[in-house]
Amino acid sequence: MIEYVIHGAYFLAALLFIYGLKRMASPVTARSGILIAGVGMVLAVLAAFLYGFDVREAAQEHLTMNVALVLIALGLGLGWAWYSGKKVAMTDMPQMVALYNGMGGGAAAAIAATELFSGNAQSHGVVVAVLAVLGGLIGAVALSGSLIAWAKLDGRMNGVFRLPAQQIINLVLFLGSLALGAYIVVTGINGEISFPLIGLFFILALLLGVLLTTPIGGADMPVVISLYNAFTGLAVAFEGFVLQNPAMIIAGTVVGSAGTLLTLMMAKAMNRPVSNVIFSQFGGSDDDGGEIEGSMKSADASDAAIAMYYASKVIIVPGYGLAVAQAQHKLYEFVKLLQKQGVDVAFAIHPVAGRMPGHMNVLLAEAGVPYDIIHDLEDINEDFPQADVAIVLGANDVVNPAARHRKSSPIYGMPILNVDMARQAYVVKRGQGKGYSGVENELFFAENTSMVYGDAQKVMVQMIEAVKSLG
Ligand code: NDP
Repeated sequence: MIEYVIHGAYFLAALLFIYGLKRMASPVTARSGILIAGVGMVLAVLAAFLYGFDVREAAQEHLTMNVALVLIALGLGLGWAWYSGKKVAMTDMPQMVALYNGMGGGAAAAIAATELFSGNAQSHGVVVAVLAVLGGLIGAVALSGSLIAWAKLDGRMNGVFRLPAQQIINLVLFLGSLALGAYIVVTGINGEISFPLIGLFFILALLLGVLLTTPIGGADMPVVISLYNAFTGLAVAFEGFVLQNPAMIIAGTVVGSAGTLLTLMMAKAMNRPVSNVIFSQFGGSDDDGGEIEGSMKSADASDAAIAMYYASKVIIVPGYGLAVAQAQHKLYEFVKLLQKQGVDVAFAIHPVAGRMPGHMNVLLAEAGVPYDIIHDLEDINEDFPQADVAIVLGANDVVNPAARHRKSSPIYGMPILNVDMARQAYVVKRGQGKGYSGVENELFFAENTSMVYGDAQKVMVQMIEAVKSLG
């Protein structure tokens, strides 16, 4: 009887995951989508908990001990997730996502390890054993790779680290882990379980994740993060097959396919094939932009505000600095004042602006900016030459013209927003800080650009005051 309840709960959980994901497709329904998927996860955890009482004979032997261990793990996980989720700043969300993603991969690898060390996977035949090994490999790569991505996003690891003949080392590591995995499967099916070799297999996989990620830098991190997200989904789905757990299979497949789509979209946004990001270490160039001709001019916030007040068309480019300053509410207050004056205001969103996919859309939605004035790069880029003013708020890499022509630049080839083509450009930032890729920005030195120095929120307050004083 309890088995039917468990399977029913898994099925319902899987449906909730899919429905939740569907609702996450639009900012209007995303919040409820997350809640729905969360309910699905609670259900899946409860069902997995019941599973221990019912199905697995091995688990019955030390039932009290196992239940106690599971409860301790659940308590620790819940407590930590609750605390970190409550405390995390919006600007630190990408790191948190990378960390949680890594844990998903790690959990899949841990299942693989348990099933392989115990010989359980091997005893179920070649298909299950192969899936356990592949899930273990991908999950371990996702774990160590995501941890490096977390360290890079959190500013704990700066720059790129490359070994001589890095590609060859990576290839040898990859082929080595595959060969070892095959050996573990073949010998395991014949009843031979080698603890040191299985251990070595996981060490090689973890090392591969580290070495694949350390040389990637600059602006390519979004592609890497979404790729590891896809890896985690795939690893969970494989281990779901091993455990015959439908909720894991469905959730893993959903995450894997969503992650793959996101990876392709991010790679397209960067205008480079995924293989180039991973194997060519595009973003790994050390070119910091070199000497740029021209000089930076500064302007007062009030001058910039007045120029926009008397303009007919203004395009706003938000970036990571807007999120740091939490200036989205003040910005929208300012936009409403411009609109009241009859100015045509549009937002231009670069797909990798900020530190996570959709970061700017979330930020603007939070402030209540209507979706019809928010435009993606390909929809608005042609409009910049007609804009009287383009204002950049805390963005840097996504508006750097070097991406168009400087071949040695780590951002070369990435499509950028054509701010330099507007009649007048203003850039709001605190000082001389570079963008995420560490490259000097040619836009700041352009003839038609003026820098407005200051924290974006403080600058917006000054702009609002300046415009209000006019009328
Ligand atoms: P950047 O990181 O290139 O630049 C942000 C700028 O904001 C800095 O130059 C900084 O200059 C300024 N800034 C910081 N704080 C403030 C503040 N309080 N007020 C005003 N300005 C501030 O941001 P972009 O959005 O242009 O580009 C995103 C970059 O991040 C790309 O390279 C992208 O590839 C990468 N990335 C994106 C991810 C994604 O999924 N979207 C994930 C990981 C990386 P100063 O210090 O002088 O103020």
